[in-house]
Amino acid sequence: MAGSALNPIIVLGATGSIGRQTLDVADRLDRTVVGLATGSLSNDIIDLAVRYPDARVAVAHMPDRTIDAALERRIEFGSDAVASLAGSPETVVVNGIVGAAGLEPSLAALESGNRLALANKESLLTGGSLVLAALESGGGELIPVDSEHSAISQCIEGESVDEIRRVILTASGGPFHARPDLDLAQVTVVDALAHPTWDMGKRISIDSATLMNKAFEVIEAHFLFSLDYEQIDVVIHPGSFVHSLVEFVDGVVKAELGSPDMRKPIQRALTWPGRMPAPVEPIDLLGSALMFSAPDRERFPALDLGYEAGRRGGNGPAVLNAADEVAVAAFLDHQIGFTEIVEVVASALSAVSPAPTATLADALEADAAGRVAASEAIAARASR
Ligand code: MG
Repeated sequence: MAGSALNPIIVLGATGSIGRQTLDVADRLDRTVVGLATGSLSNDIIDLAVRYPDARVAVAHMPDRTIDAALERRIEFGSDAVASLAGSPETVVVNGIVGAAGLEPSLAALESGNRLALANKESLLTGGSLVLAALESGGGELIPVDSEHSAISQCIEGESVDEIRRVILTASGGPFHARPDLDLAQVTVVDALAHPTWDMGKRISIDSATLMNKAFEVIEAHFLFSLDYEQIDVVIHPGSFVHSLVEFVDGVVKAELGSPDMRKPIQRALTWPGRMPAPVEPIDLLGSALMFSAPDRERFPALDLGYEAGRRGGNGPAVLNAADEVAVAAFLDHQIGFTEIVEVVASALSAVSPAPTATLADALEADAAGRVAASEAIAARASR
């Protein structure tokens, strides 16, 4: 298994933010890219297919335009093609897919015994127990790419899970936490998209502003590190240079610090257990203040909703995530206000009955039910 860090790389969600940064890191490390996948056929994936002529290319959705014959021979279409690519043995699969479509390829990668560098949060939210079962049965490796979970995994390396008292996830707080004067019901899409530290996609920027992203990360930490929800805390750390901390039973606290740059956790997942040089900005310790504060759980109810969905287990996290995706899209589309995002998610969560997610079909059904319930909650608001 130690040799798996040198296996060639497959990038799922290759044209997205994580995918692009992964390709930058892979090129810089001189690692071979043997597979690329995206959701739909775009000029970007065609460009990548040309740039990596030896890579297998999979596109989940059938093309809605005619493409030249040479290109058509290069590209396999269909979501099965993406899962089959992820299951190519002896590879490192970086899953940067956005959405529940990322779950099946994650399972395929782990069932084939591959290293899965996981940035697709829906894999754990929609099918956390399935991912752990695939990890166990396939004998693969699961390495988180999210900066907080990458930090925790580095802090607990060589430690025993039984000796962890708690983990502390840091949150930047998004653009609104530091502004208690602001009426959140009135904030605009533009305000909410202005994330102070990380440059990210639209949905995750909104999820950071509501703290829903942190709620998701609490659930991810539960699955990744076998922790009870009582052992997972969240603190606001506007500096974003302490990426998370772990407190052990003897009171010792370990943390991972550094500049906020996603290429760092990506590279960590590609090179683990070793390290390679990277052109990452050094942290300016002398100019930094170690500031932490408690999250405002009343103004940002998404956080407690996340704990509630996580403790409910089964389909809870899947419904939470799917409903949030629909609610955020409605906010971005000016159909609902900022504070209504979490209200819609809360009503979806209570509308969908608890159920286990023992199979992929169960998980996808929970995802669909969360979407329907959120759409209904949005429609009910519109007609009021
Ligand atoms: Mg994160």
